[in-house]
Amino acid sequence: LRASTAVVENEDGDTVGMVSVLSDITHEKQIEEIKSQFVSLVTHELRTPVVAIQKSLELIDSGVTGAINDDQKRFLAISKLNLARLNSLINDLLDMSKLEAGKFVLLPSSFDIRGVIQEVKVSLSSWVSDKEIVLKIDLPEAPVTVNADRDRMVQVMVNLVGNALKFTPKKGEVHIKLKPLDLKEKICQEPCVEIAVHDSGIGIDPKDFKRIFNKFEQVSLVSPVGTGGTGLGLSIAKEIINLHGGDIWVESQIGHGSTFTFVVPRAFRGGKIDVQ
Ligand code: ADP
Repeated sequence: LRASTAVVENEDGDTVGMVSVLSDITHEKQIEEIKSQFVSLVTHELRTPVVAIQKSLELIDSGVTGAINDDQKRFLAISKLNLARLNSLINDLLDMSKLEAGKFVLLPSSFDIRGVIQEVKVSLSSWVSDKEIVLKIDLPEAPVTVNADRDRMVQVMVNLVGNALKFTPKKGEVHIKLKPLDLKEKICQEPCVEIAVHDSGIGIDPKDFKRIFNKFEQVSLVSPVGTGGTGLGLSIAKEIINLHGGDIWVESQIGHGSTFTFVVPRAFRGGKIDVQ
């Protein structure tokens, strides 16, 4: 049952009563469950043909099926790019259904988180150079060891830096900063690390700060050409950070770029920490 309550006031603004409405949401819950099972089933089924297409394209690309001309190379590149998009969409949908079903498992290990930032820089380097973006990275000299799910940290960083690149015009700036925080800094109640991704892009209206972390929310009026997106990335990133006991937030002004910041405890444990 879901309860909604409203206060009844007289002309002078005094409370004279209360109205409560109880609604049976069993049916809504069932529909929610069926929807989630359907998404999970369809995305699993999509995996097999996608892998088959990928393998075929790789074979053609490798030259074993004969030489290919420049036009064919161009179309092959387009196919590979779109297949990568389809793959990341399937992965996002699978993550989402696992999160909703409470079946999203973290695999923690100990690692230097500076390596994650370097790895993300390498994997997005062609996008950075295509858009002539000035990418600045600020890392401490000493290793910053954390105990967390490394692949999931890479996923969060790829999403944040990917968005920064997507929503920043050509020749803009993206700045990644890693800072270990100790208790004195008052953001965490235990030693943690803070990573901030700043861009000089289109910015976000403060009224949308909360919304963009919801699934399927996209707020930019003009979607940058050829970028697409599903509005799932930030909601998955937020879930991953929360599952690590951390928090993520954004500061921005329309037309003046955005800064996405997250903190995670250096020691792994589930649950939440209080972030001010
Ligand atoms: P997607 O990028 O697939 O649309 P996300 O969940 O990653 O989905 O982002 C949701 C929305 O938040 C984006 O569609 C965009 O409107 C906004 N957004 C995210 N990052 C930025 C950014 N760095 N600058 C401006 N807007 C952003």
